[in-house]
Amino acid sequence: MNLIDILNKEELSKEEIIFLLSLKSEDEIAMLHKRADEVRKHYCSDNVHLRGIIEFSNHCVQNCPYCGLRISNKKLIRYRMSKDEILETAKQISEAGIKTIVLQSGEDFWFDEAFIFNLISTIKEKFDVAITLSLGERKFTEYISWRRAGADRYLLKHETANPKIYSKLHQKQKLFERINHLFFLKSIGFQIGSGNIIGLPNQSLEDIADDLLLCEKLECDMASFSPFIPASDTPFRNIEKASLELTLKTMATARIVLKDTHIPATTALGVLDETGRIKGLQTGANVVMPNYTPHPYRENYRIYDGKICITESTIDCGSCVRLMIESLGRKVALDHGDSLKFVAVNLTLNTPV
Ligand code: SAH
Repeated sequence: MNLIDILNKEELSKEEIIFLLSLKSEDEIAMLHKRADEVRKHYCSDNVHLRGIIEFSNHCVQNCPYCGLRISNKKLIRYRMSKDEILETAKQISEAGIKTIVLQSGEDFWFDEAFIFNLISTIKEKFDVAITLSLGERKFTEYISWRRAGADRYLLKHETANPKIYSKLHQKQKLFERINHLFFLKSIGFQIGSGNIIGLPNQSLEDIADDLLLCEKLECDMASFSPFIPASDTPFRNIEKASLELTLKTMATARIVLKDTHIPATTALGVLDETGRIKGLQTGANVVMPNYTPHPYRENYRIYDGKICITESTIDCGSCVRLMIESLGRKVALDHGDSLKFVAVNLTLNTPV
């Protein structure tokens, strides 16, 4: 296989994706990164979208062995933010000029349909923002209700497209069900986000290629490829963190395959490497999610260890991310940052490598 030929192709086969993920030489990896940056600029421009995240509850009924929020982790101090606290944080995000609010939590059914419906309606009434929900797998009737309340997007990572690995990780959940939820969310008008964790035990490059292809099949509006980082007090506490090189190769290849899909430079990438998010923005990413969860809750949303921005005041997160983006000669987008799939422009990139 020839690298330049592959980088110039419109559509990549699974074998070609695996070829890109397997690149070893520094020069070839640099070519892959450069191409991803060109594709990003072509389809997504130099705009970087900010999504202010509020991690409003760390209670979770699931028991994922990689995640610090798992129900069996008795060492974690659990919290739930009140409606007023969530609204106050939403206000801060909006005042910082950020146009998307991500409401994320563990799978916590204490927050029922009515509570979330009210929360969405109030935020939409008060602030000019898009809302992304990331609450795990919920009832289809709840999704409908929250869409009616005005929520715009739903983030539900498929985690791994390999059904064997998926069923080892999840006792109660099934991969096909998670995929069904994503299709359903899309069918009722949510913009959907999915993605994987890189570096799970027994995960092969072929599995990662399948993750990219699944995101393509789902026509994800957003796709997140984040590195595994071990979390203490979980069964995976001694598992090696993911490699930065493979994470960046995955993001770059994802950009080439998924074209106009929003791809974040994740917080986990910033944990893996101090300059990880900058590197991510240079290898395909066009989204950053500054953390606005207030203290003392922030330090207890411990999905994994060593989370960055634990000690900063919440204001710092937004401004530090803005500086990062501007230092790269990019711009912070001023709009809501909706799916780029809504605007069918420039469907092909015909500038060869
Ligand atoms: N409960 C919600 C969202 C919260 S968890 C849900 O199930 O969708 C958000 C994401 O954190 C998960 O989708 C998972 O991909 C990621 N995550 C959890 N533990 C992780 C770890 N140890 N390393 C990297 N990412 C992790």
